[in-house]
Amino acid sequence: MSSKKDQLEKLNKKMLACSSCVLRAGCKQVVPDDGSANTEIMFIGEAPGKKEDESGRPFVGAAGKFLDEMLGIIKLKRKDVYIANTVKCRPPGNRDPLPEEVAACWSWLLEQIKIIDPKIIVTLGRHSLKRFAPDIKISEAHGKEFQKVVPGIGKKYFFTLYHPAAALYNGSLRNTLIEDFKKIPKVLKKIEKENK
Ligand code: URA
Repeated sequence: MSSKKDQLEKLNKKMLACSSCVLRAGCKQVVPDDGSANTEIMFIGEAPGKKEDESGRPFVGAAGKFLDEMLGIIKLKRKDVYIANTVKCRPPGNRDPLPEEVAACWSWLLEQIKIIDPKIIVTLGRHSLKRFAPDIKISEAHGKEFQKVVPGIGKKYFFTLYHPAAALYNGSLRNTLIEDFKKIPKVLKKIEKENK
């Protein structure tokens, strides 16, 4: 069995050649992922924005800087976690991805989750949460973990966070997000204990 890094490299090569939906024609490049293949924590955002489209890396704009800041609070760096989005190509004008675009990109995300096999999947924002748990409201679920069986990947632990971009210019949401974020190490420890 090849290493997770090799598996990801192979997957990303295929992803870069994808044109399964209309988004690819309107963006500069596919934005597969960032971070480490060997990690316990996988973050899933929504879609690349302008800066991500230009650089080919997820979360490099203002929201990404805030994400890096929060990782620092829990003594982690971007290279210690894995970061991906529900869709890998920037929707025009940063509009929400359409259901058919998310569906076209779903198998890439599933493959990423299967390779990383994280202990916890941290959803960033309601769009990411909706992919895995359409019935859960982010206003009720943020800062909490839940377990769910996802077809194709099996039972996983999820942790729900507000999207850093939504919290950037909203003081109270920003504080809530930071407080929720700080819970990640404790939740991880709890999962590790359960898995022993
Ligand atoms: N917002 C996202 O959801 N993903 C990115 O990569 C950047 C901003």
